[in-house]
Amino acid sequence: MADIIDGNSIAAALRTDLAGSVDRLVDADHRPTLATVLMSPDPASETYVSMKQDDCEELGIDSRDVRLDTDAAAATLFETIDDLNRDGDVDGLLVQSPVPDHVDYREVVERIDPMKDVDAFHPENVGRLVAGYPRYKPCTPHGIQQLLAATGVDTAGADAVVVGRSRIVGKPMANLLIQRAPGGNATTTVCHSHTDDLGAKTRQADIVVAAAGVPELVDGSMLKPGAVVVDVGINRVETDDGGSELVGDVAFESAREQAGAITPVPGGVGPMTRAMLLYNTVKAAGLQHDVAVDLPDLAG
Ligand code: NAD
Repeated sequence: MADIIDGNSIAAALRTDLAGSVDRLVDADHRPTLATVLMSPDPASETYVSMKQDDCEELGIDSRDVRLDTDAAAATLFETIDDLNRDGDVDGLLVQSPVPDHVDYREVVERIDPMKDVDAFHPENVGRLVAGYPRYKPCTPHGIQQLLAATGVDTAGADAVVVGRSRIVGKPMANLLIQRAPGGNATTTVCHSHTDDLGAKTRQADIVVAAAGVPELVDGSMLKPGAVVVDVGINRVETDDGGSELVGDVAFESAREQAGAITPVPGGVGPMTRAMLLYNTVKAAGLQHDVAVDLPDLAG
């Protein structure tokens, strides 16, 4: 039976350390500030934004909560971004995705000042990560890197398989795992929707990161005994009684009989993603106000 990796407690420890970094900034006369912009047609986005605001408040980070009508002009969103870019009190800025169809999300991402880009989606920040000198790391893969380090998983020399090649999870995860840096140095295979015989690939892996958005795609028969399994997926599926439940991209019960350690859904990757947004906001404040914030880094 696999050990369960408790993302909630690892994230809580990180947040406690981050509170110390917030104190250092406040002592230097700057309270870190995150601005969130919501213009999403998806009702779940409002919940995500509210959670981000609550997380900030808990840590003593100020937040700005900007909400635009979904039928507002794209220019209104761009002007909002420009204003927040210019605002010296705002350290971090994110636009909650998705945006309405009449707005080009790529333009949104490129409009955000790369120094304030706490999602780390701007091409400058993506490029720096790939080149090996990251400024901000995207929250989910960075959270997974920290989770593995906290669990004592040595990625150096390990065979890792990342299932999924998205811009926000799969690709940056693979990039972090291959970095010549702590939390990296893994021999990494990226699988995706065109991969032939996924199980043959995952069965070779010491570490499997499943980020496909397909409920229970990876089961125990697709794992090497003792593998470390990180389940990124969050999928709402119908239950037999007509209700619904959240499941990951990993079939938890069968996988835990084969794996050495596994993250649950919920309570695994999700809390780490949230903690790393706070991390990036504190980092952004330190960089822009020239304050040494001494960020926690479990990967060393
Ligand atoms: P996405 O839809 O953008 O990308 C999914 C990727 O999986 C694609 O690259 C696709 O090629 C690949 N894929 C799809 N079917 C596959 C298959 N059968 N075999 C192999 N690869 C396949 O999704 P995303 O944004 O990367 O998110 C993935 C999942 O993670 C979703 O369930 C999402 O809700 C969840 N998520 C969770 C967090 C968190 O904090 N826990 C954060 C981001 C995303």
